[in-house]
Amino acid sequence: MRKRKLIAGNWKMNGTLEANDALLRAVAAGINELACQVVVCVPAPYLAQVQMLRQGSKIELGAQDVSRHATGAYTGEVSATMLREFGVRYAIVGHSERRQCHGETDAIVAEKARTALAHGITPIVCVGETLAEREAGQTEEVVKRQLAAVIHVNGHCISEIVVAYEPVWAIGTGKTASPEQAQQVHALLRQQLAAATEHAERVHLLYGGSMNAANAATLLAQTDIDGGLVGGASLKAPDFLQIIAAACA
Ligand code: PEP
Repeated sequence: MRKRKLIAGNWKMNGTLEANDALLRAVAAGINELACQVVVCVPAPYLAQVQMLRQGSKIELGAQDVSRHATGAYTGEVSATMLREFGVRYAIVGHSERRQCHGETDAIVAEKARTALAHGITPIVCVGETLAEREAGQTEEVVKRQLAAVIHVNGHCISEIVVAYEPVWAIGTGKTASPEQAQQVHALLRQQLAAATEHAERVHLLYGGSMNAANAATLLAQTDIDGGLVGGASLKAPDFLQIIAAACA
């Protein structure tokens, strides 16, 4: 059976109580009959608000990060248990902005994925190469190394994760990987997962990097692209709804 596509919005550090209210209501009103899964990954202070707003809709709640630690002296961090209390079902881990600005290594990302899974939260594990790495012909090596770390630590339940291929050069830049470039990397990731689990086909492989209303349908039509991780376009209800419609088609 063909799996339902998954569209996850990453609000990053954007939003206000007022803007979130308008955005969530508009998105929820536009997606009554869903043939795909929709998640919004919101800043931690807005979890309670969005948990309330999403009630009665098919929108799932996601976080943008999760601590690898269970509890204790980790100022500023948010634990998986806390996220669960707000109904969080998904957490982005290893987003390139966290790898670059917060020194998250492959090993830390793998631990975060493990903590999320242990608490019933599906980690959306981001992998992707920088422009310099792509130009040096290292794309395959980089994404495989990033995913290998997560497989190494989470091998027994690796089919429970979501993987987002996000070429760093395409995030927030308006430059999108061509459908062929994206499919090529997704096929590699699928192969790598298949070596670790017999359920690799179940794993959602999302594409992220300037996905928008105009390019979503072509990207989502690729064999191994099972959805999208959407940044900027998830902040505009009409654009996000068009991407969702492309995924539901
Ligand atoms: C992201 O933040 O994960 C992302 C893909 O951003 P954008 O869609 O804005 O490129």
